Amino acid sequence: MSKVIILGTSNAIPSADHENTHMALVGAERTVLVDCVSNPILRLEKAGVDLDQITDIILTHFHPDHVSGVPLLLLDMWLAGRRKPLTLHGLDYTLDRLEDLMGFFGWKKWPGFFSVVFHRVPANELTPVLECADFRILCSPVKHLLPTIGLRIEFGGSRRVMAYSCDTEPCEQVVRLAAGADVLIHEAAGPAIGHTSPEQAGTTATQAEVARLLLIHYPTGKYARGDLAAEARKTFQGTVGLAQDFMELDFS
Ligand SMILES: [Zn+2]
Repeated sequence: MSKVIILGTSNAIPSADHENTHMALVGAERTVLVDCVSNPILRLEKAGVDLDQITDIILTHFHPDHVSGVPLLLLDMWLAGRRKPLTLHGLDYTLDRLEDLMGFFGWKKWPGFFSVVFHRVPANELTPVLECADFRILCSPVKHLLPTIGLRIEFGGSRRVMAYSCDTEPCEQVVRLAAGADVLIHEAAGPAIGHTSPEQAGTTATQAEVARLLLIHYPTGKYARGDLAAEARKTFQGTVGLAQDFMELDFS
């Protein structure tokens, strides 16, 4: 069993039906949270992901709409009686700041707190992040407002591939990260510095020769605008859709 559960799809300003962008990779052996936002416990419960089943968290970059939920998640795991270790993966820039943030909460003095392992990944293209029977995850630095990684997930059983741009301007690193993927999940916050428009995401999908493009991290609620999928179809001939909260992608 390998699936991806989209837990949130909004850009930095969430709305009632669209939480900030984050997702869970669920395998038989490991469950990996990609970013951790807001009050993550509520979405995880609704998605049927038990806190104790989470083995790893990959933090893509240190913006509040991607990491703000970590202190609460760690606190609640501890209160729920977690004993097994948890591994946090990310760039030095991200993990240094997360460590400082947790320091403000005095986490070193929480009695009986489970062990948290920091796996610091170098900012090199296609760096292995973790590997298990379910999937192999690689990361590459992308072009955002601060050090950020995008991901490539290769599923062991089905040999299928999913890529996630994370927050980025259009860049060659994402094209290479997503090369030949079955699904590219690409941000579509808009044509701003450090971000991408749907049309530009379509161009990246075409260059990477992916089969399917799913837009994420798009404006929602009162900020929603236009038909984003139609904009992406101008530059990409494959299947295009908008990722939705609680959407599940089966890679078994
Ligand atoms: Zn960001």
